[in-house]
Amino acid sequence: MPPTSTTGAKSSRPRRGEGQWALGYREPLNKNEENKKNDDGLNVRQRIIDIYSKAGFDSIDPADLRGRFRWFGLYTQRAPGIDGGKTAVLEPEELDDRYFMLRIRIDGGQLSAAQLRTIGEISTTYARDTADITDRQNVQLHWVRIEDVPEIWEKLEAVGLSSTEACGDTPRVIMGCPLAGVAEDEVLDATPQIQQVHDDHVGSPLFSNLPRKYKTSISGCSAYCTNHEINDVAFVGVVGPDGTPGYDLHVGGGLSTNPMFAQRLGAFVRPDQLSEVWAGVTSVFRDYGYRRLRHRARIKFLIKDWGPAKFREVLEKEYLGYALPDGPAPELDPGQRRDHVGVHRQRDGRNYVGFAARVGRIPGTQLSRIADIAEAHGSDRIRTTADQKLVILDVTDERVEQITAALEAEDLQVRPSTFRRQTMACTGIEFCKLAIVETKDRGAELIDELERRLPDFPEPITINLNGCPNSCARIQVADIGLKGQLVTNSDGEQVEGYQVHLGGGMGLNAAFGRKVRGLKTTSEELPDYIERVLRRYLEQKDDGEAFAT
Ligand code: SF4
Repeated sequence: MPPTSTTGAKSSRPRRGEGQWALGYREPLNKNEENKKNDDGLNVRQRIIDIYSKAGFDSIDPADLRGRFRWFGLYTQRAPGIDGGKTAVLEPEELDDRYFMLRIRIDGGQLSAAQLRTIGEISTTYARDTADITDRQNVQLHWVRIEDVPEIWEKLEAVGLSSTEACGDTPRVIMGCPLAGVAEDEVLDATPQIQQVHDDHVGSPLFSNLPRKYKTSISGCSAYCTNHEINDVAFVGVVGPDGTPGYDLHVGGGLSTNPMFAQRLGAFVRPDQLSEVWAGVTSVFRDYGYRRLRHRARIKFLIKDWGPAKFREVLEKEYLGYALPDGPAPELDPGQRRDHVGVHRQRDGRNYVGFAARVGRIPGTQLSRIADIAEAHGSDRIRTTADQKLVILDVTDERVEQITAALEAEDLQVRPSTFRRQTMACTGIEFCKLAIVETKDRGAELIDELERRLPDFPEPITINLNGCPNSCARIQVADIGLKGQLVTNSDGEQVEGYQVHLGGGMGLNAAFGRKVRGLKTTSEELPDYIERVLRRYLEQKDDGEAFAT
């Protein structure tokens, strides 16, 4: 018999089944769930190798093409020349190009020079030299042909990389601090836990059919650079009740529509327990998550209904079989910047060098040159950040100026302007089928324009551009968030533009940006609009007042 409440939490009103497996709703309630039940997404790998790569694009089963391919980081990209006004009215197959975006997962953002060079070479050989560093530390390539995918996988796997579960309703890349193990002031080095969760659970059929995408962050960074507030599950470095370092557990963060900050469960997790606790939290989501409606399936909806106390109780009683001790909350520092750009000291006396391209776009040939530059200056460790940037570790004092000059000769700036440093953009209409507007080129032009108009702008300001109402570039937590949509220009025409969100942020004063009614700008007028907002802020702000306040 169906339960009277799907959560047992706040309401005693009977509710319709939300498709929770643990409550007996095993029958698929929508097409995505049906596809997942028909065949595990992980099985598509062999079909790509044996059939599709040999017989070509037209041989691909539509259920694989638009569903299971994601389990290996593959999305069809948007066919060129379809404007944003058509995004919502055309059928998905009308938007499909015959080429793919391939997302390569880089857990913890950790790369050796050989790994980075391999990605660069793959980009140059198979992806028309495209590469984007994402704000989840992945690299995305475009223009990939199905015929080339097995060869690309071979090359990736030869250096210990993969695209397994880079997309799909799966445990996606595990975010980690780029400075793990080297930062002077980190709470603990989370690298072993990231590695263990990856090795124990990524690619496991136990977690290859989750209700929705599932984002993890595991970090001991004192600057909280992996944005635990907006991950589905986050382990945040703290010193525990017994004085040893471990993790504070947060669950249920996510942006997009209905944004929510992750909730603390108040539980302390020892490093040696972390993989098991991760599996417990993920199992709660798998079994109790809402599968009926895609737009209500992220774990945040379960947390919202249950609250953190009930979630913790179910986790401990039904999955772990023991209680976790209570633990402290992380101590957030309001003034600390999270992005790790610039030259800073490591705890071993060497330095790390963080640098910025524009909006994360770096061609494959340049990725290979970055690997060469790192090696030529004695480093074999390169890191991606959660802000579409890169960091080279282990640079000695004598080499700092040389490596800085070598990077800046590539227009990769170690001391960038606020705008280069803190503007991010999602993929946008160039490749993304959901997009309504252009973002990458627009973001790059905006940076150049603002650098010209406001050359010495003194404050850290984040400007994030999205191509649609989703939030791949985190618009709700930016000082200035720009959500792509069609707007009406002064001639009454529908043109590309943005809804503006102001005053978002994370950390101590975490808040979602306010969507001010009527605050929209056309793409063409964007630089004028941002300049006006920033000049007004400089004129009116009190001493020390941040943009968000
Ligand atoms: Fe695509 Fe929208 Fe995400 Fe941008 S925010 S990458 S347009 S889905």
